[in-house]
Amino acid sequence: MSVPQGVKYAIIGAGVHGLSTAFHLAQRLKAAGRGSGADILVVDKTGVGAGASGIACGVVRNNYFQPAMRELMAHSVEVWESDPKAYSYHPVGYMQISPESMHADVALIYEQQKAIGYESTFVEGADDSMRYMRGLFDDWQAQGITSVLHEKRGGYANNQASMRGLAAKAQEEGVRILSGVEVNSFEFGSNSGAVTALNTNQGRIACDTVVVGVGPWVNKIWNLLDLPKKITVKANGKVRDDVPMWKFWCLEEGTLGVDPHMHRTNDGRFPPVLHVDTDAPLYSDRDRKLITDKIWGIYYKPDFNFGGVQGGASPYKVEQDPDQVAVDPYGPESPEFVVGEDFIEMWCSALAHCQKRFEGQMPLYKRDENSGGLGCFTPDNFPVFDRFRENVYVIADSNHGYKMIGVGKLVAQELVGETSRLLEPFRFARFAKGELHPTSHSPFPWS
Ligand SMILES: Cc1cc2nc3c(=O)[nH]c(=O)nc-3n(C[C@H](O)[C@H](O)[C@H](O)COP(=O)(O)OP(=O)(O)OC[C@H]3O[C@@H](n4cnc5c(N)ncnc54)[C@H](O)[C@@H]3O)c2cc1C
Repeated sequence: MSVPQGVKYAIIGAGVHGLSTAFHLAQRLKAAGRGSGADILVVDKTGVGAGASGIACGVVRNNYFQPAMRELMAHSVEVWESDPKAYSYHPVGYMQISPESMHADVALIYEQQKAIGYESTFVEGADDSMRYMRGLFDDWQAQGITSVLHEKRGGYANNQASMRGLAAKAQEEGVRILSGVEVNSFEFGSNSGAVTALNTNQGRIACDTVVVGVGPWVNKIWNLLDLPKKITVKANGKVRDDVPMWKFWCLEEGTLGVDPHMHRTNDGRFPPVLHVDTDAPLYSDRDRKLITDKIWGIYYKPDFNFGGVQGGASPYKVEQDPDQVAVDPYGPESPEFVVGEDFIEMWCSALAHCQKRFEGQMPLYKRDENSGGLGCFTPDNFPVFDRFRENVYVIADSNHGYKMIGVGKLVAQELVGETSRLLEPFRFARFAKGELHPTSHSPFPWS
């Protein structure tokens, strides 16, 4: 394979962020008479959708405790809605079903969704929550629920199909996407820190601007860019100078191999994506033993792409030094970072806790398909969208990002010289300044 000797814009990674940036940048350049997709090259060491974007559950929601995240998600939902067919997007809505410990947080989310015009319904109190849920599913039985936030927009999209749709849009704009091209090192300018070329397994590519959209591989590229492994973080009035920039969590997801049609609403429709958090004790649906009496959470949806009811539970933290974590082989191919029996029992039991239709279904869990995968997180678990070394734009979504299809549109805006208000709260300098995003009472690191 031959790679071009030089390009104006080199984008590393053909996941949601690399592809979305390429597509929108091509449109921007053309509209401004400053170039076209022919100025943009996307390289991927494997191919389109080979990373987290290609295995994601695909949930698209607004439900975030952090105002800046909510605004960004509202923008991204508009991008999903702009072409549901190409993005394989199912606008079924999303529900956050919560215990009392999260009530106040979710009430605030609802108030702020109203303020930004994002349509949702909020139900409060145990009895009203049960009534609302039974109005949708007559077998609803989850315990410990005192509020329900029902987002009318959002839903989910099919991971690989949406990446193919995005890649086709970029290619229609003249963007070149090269698979099997791995960036192994960078060349830097002699009088500046800027990157002047990518050294790949297929040869050298000189470039004016680099965009990094490598998802869980960000720690490796960050090291190649010689950016700091430990950073200063100011939080709660204290300053720490030795905080590791990256850490890994392992996402736990799987599929119950039932007919997806069995999970419909009382009136026969496909339901919203359900996310349930509760502090009610969870007992095994296999033998009634206690699984946990601490707060737990799951999410699920019927999904023909996965062939069943698909979803996940809280991730677990990978305790190894990030440089020692084996990101490759990634996702289902990984011998280490795929789900095991504990997840299967917990998730299937949690489904049965929520809806009677799932009782006794654990044997149908798809054990023949590996699932789950790594995500790479920042010190405060929220994204970094920023420039480094003068001409390198890093899109590090801290594993929030399949739903963030609109980020590439905003990055494209910044690449042509306009600052995006929505991206401002995600600059790297926030760690040292102590301008961190607020944290919620959710058991998930991404809410
Ligand atoms: C199991 C799982 C489920 C998830 N579910 C959801 C969800 O429901 N909703 C949601 O919003 N988010 C979800 N996420 C998070 C989301 O998938 C990621 O945040 C997002 O897809 C990251 O996109 P990306 O474009 O940054 O990276 P990726 O999609 O990972 O793409 C990075 C690409 O870079 C390439 N690459 C890496 N290194 C190099 C190199 N040196 N040279 C060339 N190419 C390179 C890789 O081959 C890969 O194709 C989930 C994540 C996981 C793991």
